[in-house]
Amino acid sequence: MDRNWMKESVRDLTMYYNPQVGNALRMDTNTNVLGSNPAAFEYLKNLRLDLNGYPNTYSNGLRDALAELYGITRDNLVAGNGSDEMLVTTYTTFCEPGKTVCTAPVPSYSLYGYFAQLASGIYREVELDEDFQLDVDAMVGKGDANKGILIMPTPNNPTGNCFRQKDIEEILARHDGIVILDEAYSEYARQTMIGKVDEFDNLIVCKTFSKAYAMANLRIGYMASNLKVADMLNSVKVPYSLNSVSEGAAIAAVKDQDFIKRSVDMVSEQRPKLMAKLDSLGFECYPSDANFVLAKAPIDHAKLVEGLKKRGVLIRDFGAKRRIENCVRPTVGTEELNKVMTDAIEDVLAEEKR
Ligand SMILES: *Cc1c(COP(=O)(O)O)cnc(C)c1O
Repeated sequence: MDRNWMKESVRDLTMYYNPQVGNALRMDTNTNVLGSNPAAFEYLKNLRLDLNGYPNTYSNGLRDALAELYGITRDNLVAGNGSDEMLVTTYTTFCEPGKTVCTAPVPSYSLYGYFAQLASGIYREVELDEDFQLDVDAMVGKGDANKGILIMPTPNNPTGNCFRQKDIEEILARHDGIVILDEAYSEYARQTMIGKVDEFDNLIVCKTFSKAYAMANLRIGYMASNLKVADMLNSVKVPYSLNSVSEGAAIAAVKDQDFIKRSVDMVSEQRPKLMAKLDSLGFECYPSDANFVLAKAPIDHAKLVEGLKKRGVLIRDFGAKRRIENCVRPTVGTEELNKVMTDAIEDVLAEEKR
C-alpha cells in the first residue's frame, strides 16, 4: 500500500513526538511534577465500574462542575478527549477545505499546523516580534485571512510568555472570524478569559486537564464560548468522546482547587531558582509565565539533550527551529527534581569541555 492512498492534503504528515522513555525523568512534556491529581486518584480508587453503559453524550456532569468554577453556564461549554480533540472540533466546525485560512503565530505549538492540515485548511504563520509578543496587524490579517480561524496559546508554548491582554482584545475586536485562545498553561499565569466568553462573538477558550491538573493520561479537555458558538461546536463534536471514568475523575479534580493552588505556587517558587541556576551554567533563559522555561543552551542542543537522555533525564529539544535556535525547554520541577536535572546538565557540560 502506497501513500497515494491518503488524501493529498495529509500525505506528507508524519508521526508526533514519541520518545523511548523507559524509567527516564520526564521533564519534556510540562505535566505536573507533583504527580497524579490526588482527588482524581481517590475517585478512581473507589470506583465501581459499569463497562456496559455509554457515558453521558456531552459530559453534562463535568460541564456543570466547570460552569460553577468559572461562573458561566453548562451550555457555554464543550468537553472531550483532550484539548487536542477540542482543537480538531473547532477546525472541523469552521474550516472550509481548501478555502479557510488558519493562522497561528510562530514559534508556537506545532500541532496547530497539523490540525489545520487535517481539516485541509490553508495554513498561515505569523512571526512573533523580538520579545515573542503578537504582531497584532499581521495576526488580524486582511481579506480571507481576516475571516479565517486564528489560534494562539497564552502562555505560549514553547516560549513560555503570556501575550498582552490588550493585544488579544484588539485581535478579538478586529478579526472577523473565530479566535481560539489555547489556555493549556493559564493556571500557572493565574489569568484566564474563560469567564468573559459571553462578551465576544468570536472567542473560543480552550483548556485542558493535562497540565496543572496532572491528568494527561485520562485525556480530558474542554472549551468555552458564547452560547451560539458552543452550540455549533457541540453539534460537530464526536459524541461520547469523553469516557465516564475520565469525566468522573475530572469532576473530583475540579472540586479540589487546593491541589491546583499548591501546584501553581510550587512553580512560582521554583521557576526563578531554576532559571538562575541555568543562567549560572551559561544558558540564556527567556521570561516564563508557565511551568516550563525556554533556554538557549551553551553547547550544541542535540548533544545536551542526548547527554541528558543517557543520564536518565528527558527535556524537549527545539534547537533546530527557526527563531529559537539551539534552545531547549525543560519543565520546572520540584526543588529535588530540578537538582537532579541541573546536576545532570552540569555533568554533560563538564564532559563537553573535556
Ligand atoms: C499540552 C498542550 C495542550 C494539551 O493537549 P491535551 O490534548 O489536552 O493533552 C494543548 N495546547 C498546548 C499549547 C499544549 O502545550
